[in-house]
Amino acid sequence: MTDFVKTRAAFHLPDGVIYLDGNSLGPLPVAAKERVARMVTQEWGELLIRGWNAAGWYVQPRKVGDRIARLIGAPPGTVVMGDTLSIKVYQALSAALQLNPDRRIVLSDNGNFPSDLYMADGLLKSLGRDYQLKVVEPEAVEDAIDASVAAILITEVDYRTGRRHDMKRLTARAHAEGALAIWDLAHSAGAVDVDLTGADVDFAAGCTYKYLNGGPGAPAFIYVAPRHAERVRPSLSGWMGHEAPFAFDLDYRPAPGIERMRVGTPPVIALAALEAALDVWEDVDMKDVRQRSIELTERFIAAVERDCPGLVLGSPRDPAMRGSQVSFHHPHAYAVMQALIARGVIGDFRAPDVMRFGFTPLFIGEAEVDAAVATLASVLADGSWDRPEFHRRAAVT
Ligand SMILES: *Cc1c(COP(=O)(O)O)cnc(C)c1O
Repeated sequence: MTDFVKTRAAFHLPDGVIYLDGNSLGPLPVAAKERVARMVTQEWGELLIRGWNAAGWYVQPRKVGDRIARLIGAPPGTVVMGDTLSIKVYQALSAALQLNPDRRIVLSDNGNFPSDLYMADGLLKSLGRDYQLKVVEPEAVEDAIDASVAAILITEVDYRTGRRHDMKRLTARAHAEGALAIWDLAHSAGAVDVDLTGADVDFAAGCTYKYLNGGPGAPAFIYVAPRHAERVRPSLSGWMGHEAPFAFDLDYRPAPGIERMRVGTPPVIALAALEAALDVWEDVDMKDVRQRSIELTERFIAAVERDCPGLVLGSPRDPAMRGSQVSFHHPHAYAVMQALIARGVIGDFRAPDVMRFGFTPLFIGEAEVDAAVATLASVLADGSWDRPEFHRRAAVT
């Protein structure tokens, strides 16, 4: 059984803050301070270039990938770290298209995060040859999978509403039609019980600064099913994915297996922070996290609907159909959220009218849920959200 008192103590959370935005940026793991300081002073400072071997910087992307693999139902040796999620989506899609060379359609949905669609669009335009990105409603994905589709590119949990796709079912449907399945786990890894092997997924990618708490700019991960790993020839064929980077051959030869999905020099300092974040997950069972997450989101929805008139649920009501976040619509969602943040309850806003709240059982419990709803109810009741300062938009919402 996961000890959530222990995981709560592993995070630094500012006094007076209830943090319901771990789905955007996870909080600081206490141990990351010391781990990063040690990396900088002892490894970078003292070892200098020797750190690549002596401190294992070179093998870190693979080692950290194995730790993430456990959290997403993937075997060791199938996940590697590096770059950002947008880049990993590009790599996964280009690899999938290579494996399905006679087809020209990539299927996604309009609940996907725009960067995934932008990256797909950029890749397909550069390929030319009649490639086409088809974007349908989330509910229409299943029926839109036919024998013309090369790959589906789907984000499991919708970043705005928290709606969760049925990964196993859509993947099976894709395979039945001869298409490959690529899953974006940005709002799944560390949030829901993902089983990549059980769902027979072909490719997956995700970021580590959301529910995994790796810190701003933490590197992304990519998963390639073992059956494909030796077959794909990476389109981003950087030297760190070469079979022998230090042979400095002029010709590219892919490294064995998942290592070929590495591109360039890994972000070693960021990986140190991520390692500390992953220590928190060592004794955590994703099934426990999922169960707690459902309890917390159910409690939040019930309390908001009871105490906060004017807010309309934007997430699926059935907990099986949503991830670890809850969204509510409000005509002045931006201002209400700013007023809420000013009172120490941090969620976020997504255009046009969504207030978004993430629930991370590692550091959120019933007390935080109840206090957050009480504050929200009071912000709405006293009208303080309507002050001019709460209407001014910042660059990052
Ligand atoms: C957060 C998120 C991203 C972000 O991509 P980066 O390249 O890491 O900035 C991409 N896709 C989805 C679905 C996301 O939720």
